[in-house]
Amino acid sequence: MPTLGNPTGTIYILKKYNFQFQKKYGQNFLIDSNILENIISAAQITKDDFVLEIGPGIGTMTQYLCENAREVIAVEIDKKLMPILEDTLSAYNNVAVINADILKLDINRIVDEKNGGRPIKVVANLPYYITTPIIMGLFEKHVPLESITIMVQKEVAERMQSKPGTKDYGALSLAVQYYSAPQVMFTVPAGCFMPRPNVDSAVIKLIYHSKPPVDVNDEGLMFELIRASFNQRRKTLVNSLSNATDLGLTKDKVLSALEKLQLAATVRGEALTLEQFARLSNML
Ligand code: SAM
Repeated sequence: MPTLGNPTGTIYILKKYNFQFQKKYGQNFLIDSNILENIISAAQITKDDFVLEIGPGIGTMTQYLCENAREVIAVEIDKKLMPILEDTLSAYNNVAVINADILKLDINRIVDEKNGGRPIKVVANLPYYITTPIIMGLFEKHVPLESITIMVQKEVAERMQSKPGTKDYGALSLAVQYYSAPQVMFTVPAGCFMPRPNVDSAVIKLIYHSKPPVDVNDEGLMFELIRASFNQRRKTLVNSLSNATDLGLTKDKVLSALEKLQLAATVRGEALTLEQFARLSNML
C-alpha cells in the first residue's frame, strides 16, 4: 500500500478501484503531505482524542488521524468509497467508517455511545457545497465539542473570523463567533488537491466556547434578528427589522430599543457587534 498524501499514491488507489470523482459530493482529495501534517498539528491531535472526520474520501487524512488520535469515526456519504476505505484503513484498529450523510446523522448519539458524551475534536477537509449547514448543525445541535479544525473555501474562512464594519462581516461571522473563537491557521493553494478546485482554500480552527461570550435570553430570536439585518444589508437596521414580517416588529419599537442602546437611528446591521445584537434581542 503506497502512502496516499501524494499524487502517485492517490492515482494508484483511484486506478485500482476505477474510482470516478463525484462533483456533486465536492470530492477534492488532498495530495500534499505537508498540508496533512500541518492540519494534524493545527488540530493538536493527541492519543487522548476522539476525532470525528467528515468526508474521509479515500482515507488520506484518516490515516494521519489514526496514527495520532485514540479513536476516529469517519462519516462518508459516497458508498463507492467504502471498499476503498476498508483497504486503505486496514492497518488500523482505532477507526470506524460510517456510510451516511453527515447532515442526517445523530452525532450526539455517537458521542454518547463512543465517547461517554465527552467533548470531541472534529477534523475535516469539508465538502464545500455544505460547509455552512455542517458547521451550524454541529453548533445548533449542541454536539459536545472541543474544537473544529476544517479546510474550507478561503473566502468562507475570512467571513468566519471577520469583525463589524468589514465587507465580509455577516450572519456567518456572528454565528461562528457566538459559539467559538475562530482562527485562520494557513491557506492552501488549489494545486494541493486532486482534482484541482476552482478556489483557494484555508484551514480554520474553531475553538468551542464552553460558555457563549454574551448573555442572550433567546438564542433563536437573536439569530432571527441577525439574519433579517443582513438579508437587506444596505438598508438601515430599523428598515430591515421592521420589513421582516415574521418578526412582527414596528419601526417605533426598534427605534426605541436602538435609542436605549445609544445607537443611531440610521445604523446598519453590519456595524453591530455580537454583544450589541445580544442586548438588542434581550430588549425586544
Ligand atoms: N478527506 C478527504 C481528503 O482530504 O482527501 C476528502 C475530502 S473531499 C473535499 C470531501 C469528502 O466529503 C468527499 O469524500 C465526499 O464524498 C464527502 N461528502 C460529501 N458530502 C457529504 C455528506 N453530506 N456527508 C458525509 N460526507 C460527505
